[in-house]
Amino acid sequence: MTQTQKTQIRIMRMQGMGYHMIAKELCLKENQVQLFCKMHGLAGDGNLVRLNYPIWCEQNSRCLVCGSKVKQPKTGRKKKFCSGRCRTRYFRENYEAEVE
Ligand SMILES: [Zn+2]
Repeated sequence: MTQTQKTQIRIMRMQGMGYHMIAKELCLKENQVQLFCKMHGLAGDGNLVRLNYPIWCEQNSRCLVCGSKVKQPKTGRKKKFCSGRCRTRYFRENYEAEVE
């Protein structure tokens, strides 16, 4: 599984897509997708994932888009993304999802 596919899985799960759909879209096996989701806080009902995944990321200091560790500042607001690139990507993907 490539980093791009992993990122796509996160984004698709946050849009409420099921394992079957994601697997088809990314040319992966459904159980591959399922296992990845189980290990990365993305398992369960799609609508619940959409609500719970941002919380999981915050608790584990993970980037919402790529899943890498986010260095949290000692003071101030907690960061949700590892980089400006991921932040931009997140808002672009979510904006597109709303337009459809
Ligand atoms: Zn990131």
